[in-house]
Amino acid sequence: MTFRVHPTAEVSDRATIGDGASIWHQAQVRERADVGPGCIIGKGAYIGADVKVGANCKVQNYSCVYEGTTLEDGVFVGPEVVFTNDRYPRAINPDGSLKSADDWHCEGAHVRFGAAVGSRTVVLPGVTIGRWALIAAGSVVTKDVPDHGIVAGNPARTMGWVCVCARRLNESLACPECGRAYAQADSGLALLEAGS
Ligand SMILES: [Zn+2]
Repeated sequence: MTFRVHPTAEVSDRATIGDGASIWHQAQVRERADVGPGCIIGKGAYIGADVKVGANCKVQNYSCVYEGTTLEDGVFVGPEVVFTNDRYPRAINPDGSLKSADDWHCEGAHVRFGAAVGSRTVVLPGVTIGRWALIAAGSVVTKDVPDHGIVAGNPARTMGWVCVCARRLNESLACPECGRAYAQADSGLALLEAGS
């Protein structure tokens, strides 16, 4: 295996790290996490137990990818993003006693291929972010985002559609930057093959 772990990072010996991955300063990768080949896990980032990070993802500094989260291949996570996993958060029971680790239901987010999550976004439990979707910085994502959707704000609302090159599409669902064209699909937009 030819991955790189900075000496100050804390990677569980029960985690799986793919070839070519880099785990930077003070990052923590918990037990049974699976970090795919080519991933870059930035300074101070947290990859929770059992979290699946696909190939070639970038998780920037100080982001928290908590238990239950799944990142498919090629996902970008900007700095200081938080993926939450507890829909009904409480520290204590009604009688004031501390809740135990078994006292809650872990419900992670699922981020699909190629999507990008802007800096300081918060993603709520159980949300699916579609393929190549773009989440603007500082968003609070409370519901599913379609493939190629752009969302922004708190709660995040749909602002339009985005190309694989991260530029916003025009009204004809074409990219003014690279010329790629798209059509409506069940899960959002889909890229049209060249010439179709
Ligand atoms: Zn484009």
